Amino acid sequence: MHISVIGTGYVGLVTGACFAEFGVNVTCMDNDAKRIAKLEKGEVPFYEPGITELVAKGIKEGRLSFTTDVTKAVDKALAIFIAVGTPPRLDGSADLSYVEEVGRGIAKNLTGYKVIVTKSTVPVGTGEKLREVIKANQTGKFRFDIVSNPEFLREGSAIEDFMRPNRVVIGADSDQAVAIMKDLYRPLYLLETPFVVTDIPTAEMIKYASNAFLAVKISFINEIATLCERVGADVQMVSKGMGLDHRIGSKFLHAGPGFGGSCFPKDLAALVQTGERAGYPMQIASTASKVNAEQRVRMVEKIQKTMGSLKGKTFAMLGLSFKPNTNDLRDAPALAIAQELMKRGATIRAYDPAALEEASRTVPGLIPCHDVYHAAEGTDGVILMTEWNQFRTLDFERLKKTVRQPILFDLRNVYDSDRVVGFGFQHISVGRVSKDSQSTL
Ligand code: NAD
Repeated sequence: MHISVIGTGYVGLVTGACFAEFGVNVTCMDNDAKRIAKLEKGEVPFYEPGITELVAKGIKEGRLSFTTDVTKAVDKALAIFIAVGTPPRLDGSADLSYVEEVGRGIAKNLTGYKVIVTKSTVPVGTGEKLREVIKANQTGKFRFDIVSNPEFLREGSAIEDFMRPNRVVIGADSDQAVAIMKDLYRPLYLLETPFVVTDIPTAEMIKYASNAFLAVKISFINEIATLCERVGADVQMVSKGMGLDHRIGSKFLHAGPGFGGSCFPKDLAALVQTGERAGYPMQIASTASKVNAEQRVRMVEKIQKTMGSLKGKTFAMLGLSFKPNTNDLRDAPALAIAQELMKRGATIRAYDPAALEEASRTVPGLIPCHDVYHAAEGTDGVILMTEWNQFRTLDFERLKKTVRQPILFDLRNVYDSDRVVGFGFQHISVGRVSKDSQSTL
């Protein structure tokens, strides 16, 4: 079978490369000519473990090709996956202009029956809207079906998530389209991956409800963390005690600086907008968003409370991407926290294994450093911001000789307080009272 994927970002490229690995012929299309020129040479424009190898394999074996030409992308493909961005508008609603633009491009180039699949995260009603856009712009009279096939991969483990998903959701109103989708995902079917086959609006809602639920779980534990600090409880143990209950589960129950990234904040905002438009305010989603914004401020205040004034203080920030194993900085808590600390007079020396270059361009004044110990030189505190594996085994003896003041702001609760304090550091974490500082902010 021949398919195409329009939009070669995180989702589109992973989708294209993984389908090629399943044995499908895939054309990946993007309107960013520089991106496509790089991809044709096997150069991947972002950091994601395993993707460079998979793209190289797909190209070498002749199943993966790239183009900027939508005509080529539509021509041979039986299924066309739309994986362009759906960023937030000012009011929080999803900007569907890229999806609609692709819809018009597909419509003008239809040469026969196609299954047109939204892989992008799109609000309920988008499938229908897309159908209308295509009908209105169609030059010939070709039959087509719309399918909603939301993507649940996580950056940092995107290939594994695509190859071994918890479930595949297919929203469609045509048996033919469902059969084609199942055929495409046949390798997963054989692995006994659950398939949820439903109508288009329900599939669209499953994606938003899932992301909102995960975001709520994070904001919930962050609220509990703040309460733990005030009443002298340990949120790590609270999480453990809660997570062992199978009805709750341990995932997404880690206190920290709040969620970020390209999905949770924007998807929560879009769900809230959908609720407003439908005349039913989504109170829990709204509050999760508000708690998340406050959590970032609380991290800054936690640092300020420990240091007194931030004027003239220097901090090492370890990790900038919104999570480990990615260079994605979209809505990363690190950037917001670094900017606020600088606004209050601090200097930030930063190190990140993958996102440093882009972060230095994005945040003026950030001092890029080549490793942890370089970042820590002469600093008044080390802020562990993103839990990359290499930050889990810090050499505290070496760190202590490098810093001006031995204070670790462990905003991901990576370390056990006793261990850090044993090396002569003050340990300030989230949702736990620091033994030697009694910091409770
Ligand atoms: P991205 O910004 O990394 O990639 C989008 C790509 O689309 C870019 O390369 C851009 O050049 C291209 N594009 C835009 N308009 C185009 C057009 N008219 N024709 C061709 N190409 C065009 O975005 P992403 O992170 O891959 O996200 C894509 C969608 O998938 C979003 O709706 C997002 O919410 C959803 N999603 C993302 C993730 C994730 O972890 N990133 C996970 C699940 C779902």
